[in-house]
Amino acid sequence: MAVQKMLKFVTVPRDMPEKRGADERREDFAEIYREFADAKAAEQAGRCSQCGVPYCQSHCPLHNNIPDWLRLTAEGRLREAYEVSQATNTFPEICGRICPQDRLCEGNCVIEQSGHGTVTIGTVEKYINDTAWDEGWVQPIRPGTERPESVGIIGAGPGGLAAADRLRRMGFQVTVYDRHDRAGGLMTYGIPGFKLEKDVVMKRVAQLEDGGVEFVLNCNVGEDLSFDAIRGKHDAVLIATGVYKGRDLTGPGSGAEGIVRALDYLTASNRVGFGDEVEDYLSGELNAQGKRVVVIGGGDTAMDCVRTAIRQGATSVKCLYRRDRANMPGSQREVANAEEEGVEFVWLSAPRGFSGDTVEGVMVQRMRLGAPDATGRQTPELIEGSDYVEDADLVIKALGFEPEDLPKLWGVEGLEVTRWGTVKADFRSHATSLEGVYACGDIQRGASLVVWAIRDGREAADAIAEYIGASAEIAAE
Ligand code: FAD
Ligand code: SF4
Ligand code: SF4
Repeated sequence: MAVQKMLKFVTVPRDMPEKRGADERREDFAEIYREFADAKAAEQAGRCSQCGVPYCQSHCPLHNNIPDWLRLTAEGRLREAYEVSQATNTFPEICGRICPQDRLCEGNCVIEQSGHGTVTIGTVEKYINDTAWDEGWVQPIRPGTERPESVGIIGAGPGGLAAADRLRRMGFQVTVYDRHDRAGGLMTYGIPGFKLEKDVVMKRVAQLEDGGVEFVLNCNVGEDLSFDAIRGKHDAVLIATGVYKGRDLTGPGSGAEGIVRALDYLTASNRVGFGDEVEDYLSGELNAQGKRVVVIGGGDTAMDCVRTAIRQGATSVKCLYRRDRANMPGSQREVANAEEEGVEFVWLSAPRGFSGDTVEGVMVQRMRLGAPDATGRQTPELIEGSDYVEDADLVIKALGFEPEDLPKLWGVEGLEVTRWGTVKADFRSHATSLEGVYACGDIQRGASLVVWAIRDGREAADAIAEYIGASAEIAAE
């Protein structure tokens, strides 16, 4: 009986696939965890207690049927596990790799709460779906019937691609526009290969292309093609453009050469990984090799920058963050990985200014944590007279992202935005203030996660299908 293979959490300890040693990791951009062996995946999946009310599932943004695919994996029924897993997640092998599981599914596993160590849900999800690709179980997209209506999607990130996948499966004609030369959004050009190897993303893009999704790349909407032109061409439009306006530094010297934006730096590095010739990398501007690097910020983007700089051969890499370790927004798992790889964290410190026309140093002011603000978070306060200079040849600004002003950028009247600048849209249907125009992912919710963008994209696709169906009925009346 199936249950015999489960509930092993008391006798089997939590285990992860082997992590490559830090010395080896520093030398390349490959992912840091090796694959689970088959028996190990089954053993770890078997630790699940098959909760009647699975908190893991309710805290997964996609409400993945986690207990079922864990049980099927423990029983060796991997193909069925794959079917269950892909039913709710468009890119499960990607989420298995890069979801912050400690804050989502795994952080809410009851076994974790009872002190036995969470079921390694993300790793099993990755294992099931990598196996599915290896075994050829991932089928091409072949809609049952073709529909004449078309949908234009602006932005080929996870939100746009999840919607494209779902709409195409329903038979709609789908065109995805993106300003980059490759699809994938931040999965391609933001997130480094050591978290998400690029062939994993490219396989999905190829699957969509093969399934009939048309990609119009190198097309910056608002410049190369107007929003109105896209709207005029399609029965519905989805805006999935993400958020790209990097928060900036102020203070003396903040415009010096050698102070660069995180996303420019990471994009260049990812392009080099694809084998592209990147001028700003070759010139040294966006290359950390042989440099003393200071990264400013404490989020996941900062973690990606410090770990990229290590791999590029920086002589030293320091991360300046104005709060302490316990109060940083970035994942603790990533901080630990960065420390293992040789990154030094300088907590409770912020830049006051920079020296040199080409940056030579960061004037650092020390901070302490004061009284909590309205959100309960302690506010950093300056410690007067504690300034010092941190030598640096390359400073990377990783202070978070805000939305660009789309209505202005695109000259669109009537597209409402929130006070944060995100596109205003219904949180269930994703309908914006413009008829037939929808929004999803970061441009709707602000800088967030891949898994949320996937959920939004899937929901928006369903709402668009309903809208087009209703419009067709009205037209037929
Ligand atoms: P995006 O992925 O940003 O895609 C938007 C697309 O729209 C881009 O391809 C862009 O080129 C295109 N576009 C924008 N404007 C135009 C225009 N005018 N015309 C044509 N195309 C346009 N999330 C995780 O879950 N795990 C992680 O480990 C993680 N790490 C991250 C690391 C970094 C460095 C960054 C920056 C983010 C990270 N995130 C991570 C967040 C995650 O990548 C985003 O939340 C997610 O990609 C948002 O998806 P999206 O589809 O809304 O937008
Ligand atoms: Fe966990 Fe993310 Fe997978 Fe959901 S999609 S089960 S949150 S790893
Ligand atoms: Fe299994 Fe943990 Fe989910 Fe319960 S919460 S079903 S033990 S993975």
